[in-house]
Amino acid sequence: MTTAFRAPDAVAPSLSVALTGEWAALLQRVRALATDRLAPLANATDQLPRLPRERLDWLAALGLAGLTVPRTAGGLEAPAAVQAACTEELAAACGVTTFVWQQHLAACHLVTRATNASLRAELLPRMAAGACWCGVAFSHLRRPGPAALRVVPRGDTYVFEGTAPWVTGFGILDDVVLAGTLPDGQSLYAIVPFAPSAALIPSAPLRLCAMNGSSTVALTCRALRVPAERCLFTTTPAAMAARDRAGTLKPTALTFGVARAADELVRDRATAQGDPALATVAEALADELGAARQAVAAWAARPMDDAWFPHALRLRAWAIALAVRHAHAAVAACGGSANSLDHTAQRLYREALLYTVLTQTPAVREATLAELAASARRATAEAP
Ligand SMILES: Cc1cc2nc3c(=O)[nH]c(=O)nc-3n(C[C@H](O)[C@H](O)[C@H](O)COP(=O)(O)OP(=O)(O)OC[C@H]3O[C@@H](n4cnc5c(N)ncnc54)[C@H](O)[C@@H]3O)c2cc1C
Repeated sequence: MTTAFRAPDAVAPSLSVALTGEWAALLQRVRALATDRLAPLANATDQLPRLPRERLDWLAALGLAGLTVPRTAGGLEAPAAVQAACTEELAAACGVTTFVWQQHLAACHLVTRATNASLRAELLPRMAAGACWCGVAFSHLRRPGPAALRVVPRGDTYVFEGTAPWVTGFGILDDVVLAGTLPDGQSLYAIVPFAPSAALIPSAPLRLCAMNGSSTVALTCRALRVPAERCLFTTTPAAMAARDRAGTLKPTALTFGVARAADELVRDRATAQGDPALATVAEALADELGAARQAVAAWAARPMDDAWFPHALRLRAWAIALAVRHAHAAVAACGGSANSLDHTAQRLYREALLYTVLTQTPAVREATLAELAASARRATAEAP
């Protein structure tokens, strides 16, 4: 990547500071839930084989199941800055709860785009209320080569065949949006119950270093027949690539949540030990997080800028590296105990690893690796 990074003309204030009225009140409630209920249980939740549905009910009680759903369908229709602020709060508190919730928001987004109005009317209010939680299976569409999940039209049904390699929420979520490749290369999205059958076969939950309780499976379809009325829409690989591009900055809220929680550990440790050197480290970490958050907010506000995409990629790569680095700093600051599975520092570090590959596109992968290579070159050049 050759584009030199430039600071945006106007730097937005930190997201949480910018929110007012009903959104500030919502953020306050989300912060209370995160701090009082989710965070104290987070290390234990991380070790559970499956996220308890109760955690999602807590989010639904604040309206978060429908955070992004249009008001006409019973949602909060929150603007992007509110979504980012709520996501950061929750990601700082409990990774696996936030991760499963994010799959549901992705599903809400897909159902909102459905061309089938009666399906939209049936599903969205229930999804927004948290009466129906939903997962997604579409990242395989980004893989080059033969389609992982194929769809063939047969009369008034569509027949799915193949395996979606990553599907989060088995045994937690009610439905799943499946995306497969049609014979003409277009992608078809349909919603089905996320329940095993002879035609829908989940693997055993994948053993993951992070978000193990997300109950992520590979999902095999064997001649799974989906009626046309359960289909949401068709789209093209080019349209998906354009949406991926537009969504480049969205996952930064997750990485910022991890970094913020890590920074708090370092700061608390500095205070507890009365260690001025550690306090300086905490300050440097907080400064970097603030600068990255502000740059993301500023660039998020100018999607029409010609320089938007290269800057968004740089920022995404920065946010990925930043989360790993800040969590690593928390591990170093907390010492040997940080390696205990009960310790928050190592959990944050593992969550940062997952966020490194989440919604990874070829461009994001290239940017992530370019950032790491640049850091390797800097270290080499500055070798003592
Ligand atoms: C714990 C976990 C849970 C997940 N849950 C879900 C879920 O619920 N739903 C969902 O849809 N996804 C889910 N994902 C997928 C996730 O969002 C990313 O898409 C995924 O981690 C990227 O890795 P991959 O194995 O799919 O892709 P890879 O095959 O590793 O490819 C990564 C990227 O590189 C590109 N690429 C790969 N090979 C080549 C090549 N030869 N040439 C050029 N480019 C190439 C791909 O296009 C892709 O963009 C989950 C992932 C994890 C780790």
